[in-house]
Amino acid sequence: MDLSAESFGVAPRRNMGMLEEMPLSLDPEDVIAEFEAMTRDAGRVQIETLKKILEENGRTEYLQRWGLDGRTDPESYKSCVPLVTHEDLEPYINRIVDGDDSSILTGNPITTISLSSGTTRGMPKFVPFNDELMESTMQIYKTSYSFRNREFPIGNGKCLQLIYGSRQFKTKGGLAAGTATTNVYRNPLFKRTMKAMQSPCCSPEEVIFGPDFHQSLYCHLLCGLIQREEVQVISSTFAHSIVHAFRTFEQDWEELCTDIREGVLSSRISVPSVRTAMSKLLKPNPELADLIYNKCQGLSNWYGLIPELFPKTRYIYGIMTGSMEPYLKKLRHYAGELPLLSADYGSSEGWIGVNVNPKLPPEMATFAVLPNIGYFEFFPLRQSLDGLEAKPVGLAEVKAGEEYEVIVTSFAGLYRYRLGDVVKVKGFHNSTPELQFICRRNLLLTINIDKNTEKDLQLAVEGAAKVLAENKLEVVDFTSRIDSSTEPGHYVIFWEISGEASDEVLEECCNCLDESFLDAGYISSRKVKAIGALELRIVKRGTFHKILDHYVGLGAAVSQFKTPRCVGPTNNKVLQILCNNVVKSYSSTAF
Ligand code: AMP
Repeated sequence: MDLSAESFGVAPRRNMGMLEEMPLSLDPEDVIAEFEAMTRDAGRVQIETLKKILEENGRTEYLQRWGLDGRTDPESYKSCVPLVTHEDLEPYINRIVDGDDSSILTGNPITTISLSSGTTRGMPKFVPFNDELMESTMQIYKTSYSFRNREFPIGNGKCLQLIYGSRQFKTKGGLAAGTATTNVYRNPLFKRTMKAMQSPCCSPEEVIFGPDFHQSLYCHLLCGLIQREEVQVISSTFAHSIVHAFRTFEQDWEELCTDIREGVLSSRISVPSVRTAMSKLLKPNPELADLIYNKCQGLSNWYGLIPELFPKTRYIYGIMTGSMEPYLKKLRHYAGELPLLSADYGSSEGWIGVNVNPKLPPEMATFAVLPNIGYFEFFPLRQSLDGLEAKPVGLAEVKAGEEYEVIVTSFAGLYRYRLGDVVKVKGFHNSTPELQFICRRNLLLTINIDKNTEKDLQLAVEGAAKVLAENKLEVVDFTSRIDSSTEPGHYVIFWEISGEASDEVLEECCNCLDESFLDAGYISSRKVKAIGALELRIVKRGTFHKILDHYVGLGAAVSQFKTPRCVGPTNNKVLQILCNNVVKSYSSTAF
């Protein structure tokens, strides 16, 4: 078998214009066979992939700077080219953004820029986007679809895709810029692939790309309801969008029914292009309106809402891992008995792994690294026993059970780029690692010797939320910050909750949060009062929507939105939104 990178379709450069209208054929068994062959020899495919990337881009200013001199083997590459973060590459990326079309990071000029969601530092960051990234995105989609389809086959139908394009604009240098998801949704290959995957979107493009996401969300729901008999899958990029959509449904369902009954779109939809597109779909249908109305009235606390509204749904699909885990409980509530299938692992910088075990519950989801879409290294996070600085290892050298930070070399101009994500190797699919997403590396609550990650915070919130659950309440969303204005500094946790809780209950939650951080540094610091009492601040209903709106205003896409779980001291706007909406505050008495 030919195991060259080319034989696995490494970055084929194609004429997109000619392909636009051609039907795309997709045989899931072929896709799986290709994936199996490639992962059986993952180490070798990685070497081929690196070679290809360096051959295409070896003459760029960036790679020339590091003196590779045409060498393409991993050893030379690793010894010449340094590990970098986004900050290191910013001067190069900024020149591209400003219109310098010389070979800076890539052999072929970059014409499109992605804005990564940038939820951590409060501002989106720019990363290059090109045809190769588009191709690998489709390869990931097709691979996971093929595995999913083995377990949960779907026929011809529709997908209620809760997706939103963000604003696209031209940079100073004339490049198209938008979030990575927007760049993907706008590409003709996306629609063709969705069709081939029997998952065309219920909503017209005017809705997906509407300028006001509240209006788009309303119309997505309406489109889904009108075509309820055809909907087989409910999906979004990140699960937050699905939960957000059905929480909104709880508010707007009667208005949606009225629109269906009368065949007239609510006046809340003010964007002319969206109104025109929707009016083509909406016809008076009192029977459907009554049916939906009665179904909603028959539900208890909206349990099982999704299968009730969309009876042919086979599963719910989206990224449900990492910072999405806190939404799983609510999603399960809406989903009733329907399976939740967790989607793949990637970023604006490029894709990494594909979920080939769709039957596993989201909490156990893993991602098999696709060895032909980039060159991957893994920085070990466990201190080496000899005290020497650990070195990144290749894909074929990782060990099951160990945690690593992912380092990416892509076809879009990133070389040894620290992604900042922590993953754990759970096992292997053939010879490629299956990764479990753990957390963002830099999301850390720390005051002195304490170190709590996003995951630690999530577990603490989960623990304390049980106290609320006993009172039939839930945490709608949460975030945190370090308050160093007090002496000593302390953790502040912000909660939006689903209803009114008594002071007693919230005091108990606050203590429970404080006790749930199990990091030894935290506990010992709390005991000697080197860290002050944890504070729980309850914010008004809707506060986290305001935060979402704020990020959308900055150019982020709802599709890629992740609530920042720790708000940095410079993220003034989000801090202001939080602080202006605090209704109650509690201090822990646990220590
Ligand atoms: P973005 O900045 O929008 O490109 O988001 C990329 C980041 O989202 C990644 O670096 C991860 O931290 C997170 N992410 C992407 N896919 C997953 C996944 N399947 N599970 C958990 N987190 C993910």
